[in-house]
Amino acid sequence: MAAERASDMTDLQEQLHAAGVHTLLVQFTDVHGVAKGKYVPLRHLGEVLERGAGFAGPSIWGTALPRTGPRAEYFARGDAATAMPLPWASGVARIVGDGFVDAQPFDACPRQVLRRALARLAEQGLSLRTGIEPEFFLLRRDGGQWHPADTDDRLDKPSYDLKSLPRQRGLLFALADALTACGLDVLQTDHEDAHGQYELNFAHDDALASADHLMLFKLAAHALAEERALVFSMMPKPFANQPGSGLHFHVSLWRGDELAEGVARHFIGGLLAHAGALAAIAAPTVNSYKRLVVGESLSGTSWAPAYVAQGPNNRTALVRTLPGRFEWRLPDASANPYLATAAMVAAGLDGIERRLDPGPAVTDDLFDLSLAQIRARGIALLPQSLGEAVDALERDEVVCAALGATLAPEYIRLKRAEATEYARHVSGWELDRYAALF
Ligand code: GLU
Ligand code: MG
Repeated sequence: MAAERASDMTDLQEQLHAAGVHTLLVQFTDVHGVAKGKYVPLRHLGEVLERGAGFAGPSIWGTALPRTGPRAEYFARGDAATAMPLPWASGVARIVGDGFVDAQPFDACPRQVLRRALARLAEQGLSLRTGIEPEFFLLRRDGGQWHPADTDDRLDKPSYDLKSLPRQRGLLFALADALTACGLDVLQTDHEDAHGQYELNFAHDDALASADHLMLFKLAAHALAEERALVFSMMPKPFANQPGSGLHFHVSLWRGDELAEGVARHFIGGLLAHAGALAAIAAPTVNSYKRLVVGESLSGTSWAPAYVAQGPNNRTALVRTLPGRFEWRLPDASANPYLATAAMVAAGLDGIERRLDPGPAVTDDLFDLSLAQIRARGIALLPQSLGEAVDALERDEVVCAALGATLAPEYIRLKRAEATEYARHVSGWELDRYAALF
């Protein structure tokens, strides 16, 4: 077995060398969904696969690891199947790492959290495919102010705009080419409903691979935007008077090669029953709750879901059902794709186990209903702040169990601190409104 592994390793090393690779980028994802890692010369591939690249554990958000002793080291152990030369970084191949501590899978590593959730799904004979759809802004920072990169991008309703889109085609095509060279099937790129906002879609895949692809997309987009002196932004709502960026998940459940349509209904029931706790994971910043507004936002229709309901092709509901799959519209662009998927799986499995009913299929436009009408129909609202969402997470044993004994309390601690720090902040809006008023 060991000899077989060694020969696989040598084959991979030779393949990468033949592709001009001299350095590995050993990459993992922190709790905030931020790519982290280090460069390791290709000749050390064997160590990266066997033991992992080492990092100081407490320097990584969300690990809660101590500063001393054997558990102070976090190892990102390379997953050989993910090794891929990066077209925008000559000589460099990315390899995705799984977190290990003290030679054991590290329970708080987001990729391990997702592996555990998918293993639980597999115990039920099920597998999951996801298509993750990133919306994002291209920005510029001038004199301390943030603007859309394209200052001529000013239409009142810029969805599918064909004036700004071609102006960014240099970057957008470079991004699509880079992802295609990495084996992703790029499907489309468009201008979304805010100034400076775009969306790029690639084909769905197994849930773990899709999360890896999303991180690859972020790496590529940051690098290519920076080459053009632009800022690639996955902030959920950079401009109060414009729609925000979602990260919708298209989800299908499978039993072998067959769609598991019989259980999908209960899975969706689970997503609705646990919506509050899921918000803390899938909409994880204070800014997320400026996207998920109940009623009209400052930007008018924002297409972001606030109502806990599901309906056929209904983009005003939390879950839009489609033939053979559904779209989970809760996540925003700042979500960690591993944790969001894992939390969704935990909620969905609970729905299956308890045969939860997702309620009536909603066919009307929920954005047209008053809050009183929404309440009268028994439709719950999503949390309206990060603090509220974290409270819901703390009460939710199912979603906390999916995060695990290390990450759940650490996540709650970090996110509560984020909400408190924000609440303590005095904003320009407050000064403008109150400074001279009383
Ligand atoms: N930008 C919207 C959101 O924040 C979604 C728009 C769309 O449906 O493409 O979820
Ligand atoms: Mg969109």
